[in-house]
Amino acid sequence: MKATLPRTKAKIALILIAVVIIVSLGIRIYNSYRFHLEKQTRFMMDTYVTLYAVGPEKITSRAIDLALDRMQEVDEKFNALNPESPIYAFNHRNVPIADEEILNVIRYALKVSATSGGAFDITIAPLVKLWGFYGDSPRLPRAKEIEDTLSKIGYKYLLFRDGKLDKTKADIAIDLGGIAKGYGVLQASKVLLEEGVASALIDAGGDVYALGKKGRKFWKVGIRNPRGEELLGYVEVEDLAVMGSGDYERFFIKDSRRFHHILDPRTGYPAQDLSGVTLIHPDPMVADAWCTALFVLGPGKGLEIIDKISDMEAILITTEGEKLYSSGLKHAVKGLGEFN
Ligand code: AMP
Ligand code: MG
Repeated sequence: MKATLPRTKAKIALILIAVVIIVSLGIRIYNSYRFHLEKQTRFMMDTYVTLYAVGPEKITSRAIDLALDRMQEVDEKFNALNPESPIYAFNHRNVPIADEEILNVIRYALKVSATSGGAFDITIAPLVKLWGFYGDSPRLPRAKEIEDTLSKIGYKYLLFRDGKLDKTKADIAIDLGGIAKGYGVLQASKVLLEEGVASALIDAGGDVYALGKKGRKFWKVGIRNPRGEELLGYVEVEDLAVMGSGDYERFFIKDSRRFHHILDPRTGYPAQDLSGVTLIHPDPMVADAWCTALFVLGPGKGLEIIDKISDMEAILITTEGEKLYSSGLKHAVKGLGEFN
């Protein structure tokens, strides 16, 4: 026997099906509007900066544009090699720095110098120059050159006079390369928020800030292995910066030895013992500065100091390949199996 539906029942069923299709289509369109993922990349700060933002397209594309513009502005202003920057004028013509934005970053940099016992020191510029890390062909200086240059290093030669940054020695020059990228990322995140974006990822050449969540999920950020392409693992984050410092960023090999761009202000040579530091903190500027500081401090002192600074976690990788985790991070790093 053939089962037939009465005509009215068939109609109701058809209408119900149509409603279900329309509603699910509507939800899809609404979600693709609300959770649209926009991405843009620009070259600045010596690297490729990629911004991802989740939200209605109308909002995200404008927000990303403005955030990247802001980062570019920070890059130009804070770059010691830009002849137009106040840093350049300070270094080459002894013009005191009056720019409030730069002064605020310097004030924080000086705090890191004091807390790290001078491991982080923005007066490192003459040494970076001597080693040739401002150019394309870095070289190993002679011991005497290093010794002479060390007399031009010391954050204690900086002082504030009449609300401006001045120096007590003419040869003093500063380099904000260890902190400016983090500050730029912080500024970009502020612009995104002001423009109505609550969910974004800023990736400045592997230095990352996760704003809010990725829709309903956490952002997944990979942790770099200083030797090799493979990641060490990943962390799931929200409103956190994950920044790295490493001997793989700018270096040269001479007589089988690696010489890199993070210099120990106490010896004049590249910091030894560590090959990479990944640091997690809510403020990208803090994360950037401390990442460089911990790299110079090395494994022992580095781990000791992390515990004294609130909300800071880090992974230190020694040149021997040993991985040292701060107490809060030990179980937070996940294996790559679940990364994608
Ligand atoms: P980062 O990649 O954040 O670790 O910064 C590295 C950059 O910081 C270098 O390229 C230098 O411009 C600068 N730098 C190198 N050594 C130091 C140091 N001991 N303290 C502060 N800045 C440094
Ligand atoms: Mg840094």
